[in-house]
Amino acid sequence: MAAASGADGRSSGTAVLSRLIVDIDAVVANWHLLAGRAGAAECAAVMKADGYGLGVRQLAPALAEAGCRSFFVAHPAEGVAMRRHLAEAGAGTARVFILHGLQEGEAALFRAHDLCPVLSTERQIRLWQAAAREAGRPLPAALHVDSGMNRLGLAEDAFRRLAADRDGFEGLSLQLLLTHLACGDDPADPMNAMQRARFLALRALLPQVPASLSNSAGIFHPEHPPLDLVRPGIALYGVDPVDRPPAQNPLHPVVEWHSRILQIREIDASEAVGYGAAFRAKRRTRLATVSVGYADGYLRGLSNKAYGALHGVRVPLAGRVSMDLLTFDITDLPADRVREGDELELAGHTVSVGELARWGGTIGYEILTRLGPRINRRYKKAGQLIDNEDACGNAPV
Ligand SMILES: *Cc1c(COP(=O)(O)O)cnc(C)c1O
Repeated sequence: MAAASGADGRSSGTAVLSRLIVDIDAVVANWHLLAGRAGAAECAAVMKADGYGLGVRQLAPALAEAGCRSFFVAHPAEGVAMRRHLAEAGAGTARVFILHGLQEGEAALFRAHDLCPVLSTERQIRLWQAAAREAGRPLPAALHVDSGMNRLGLAEDAFRRLAADRDGFEGLSLQLLLTHLACGDDPADPMNAMQRARFLALRALLPQVPASLSNSAGIFHPEHPPLDLVRPGIALYGVDPVDRPPAQNPLHPVVEWHSRILQIREIDASEAVGYGAAFRAKRRTRLATVSVGYADGYLRGLSNKAYGALHGVRVPLAGRVSMDLLTFDITDLPADRVREGDELELAGHTVSVGELARWGGTIGYEILTRLGPRINRRYKKAGQLIDNEDACGNAPV
């Protein structure tokens, strides 16, 4: 149900204590930027885990409208939801790939929702071939071949054996042959060239099938061959997939995450802050306590390491991250510029998601996919803020 919330962030009688603004236009702009880099190759969108936590229902229709024709999710249930959102947006002909392939008993569901399994094992291939015999026609499928990551994908020898067998892929209408880079985030890593070479040798065995190698990072490699289709995920959401200074990130920032200041207080030098008294003031210190914590996905590993921002000025986190609260040292801001009830930026234009990840010893992917259900999500499109209409606890009640 849409909670009517005004520009002041108040809704239905309760104040929003932590909110996320997702810029739909920025996601679309990032897709265009990536599609431009991909040249003649098709640019898909990887949207597993609800679009990296940001909302498939809002983002997939916008990407379809921009021209995206192929979507990747991990689980079949995510594919069913994706199919529904695309159909509602009039994009029923887009392809929906299920990266985890199919399990026994799922073929009917895949067929009913027109989901394309990405097959990684010989058992999955046999299951889908049996479904094709039952259907009396070839069924669309993608093949994942392993090129050195050793996670998912047909082993090289199994793939070679099947490709050499006239009936090896019988009953499959092969849409795509893909592999995945293990060290894409470091363009200089020799794994990239090794995987590229292995994959190109394997795809030569099925030259008529479109091939796909690059995730977001791969698209930025100086020597990336775009092949026939690229599969960006994280870059769509504004996070730089390769390690470089934030100022060099060519992508548009997508999220703004704010939380409300519940209390401001001053403490004397040598007084402590928070659990474990893990921060001790070295001077007279002004503190702002805000309404967000590890239960909302603000990682506990950020304790004493991160920064927030107020009026574009960075302020250090003081002490441990609690379940529902954080405390920032705002001493360096003029006292009249910060009031109880103001919002503090946790990530957005001053602090990037990538920085937050680095301080917490993780990656932007984890920051985005852990954003919790108490955070009120709103979407920005054509300069307008749209309320989140998911009835799943995101909207304030
Ligand atoms: C998640 C995933 C992607 C997207 O990766 P990003 O690094 O987010 O661009 C592409 N391909 C496969 C197989 C994936 O699992």
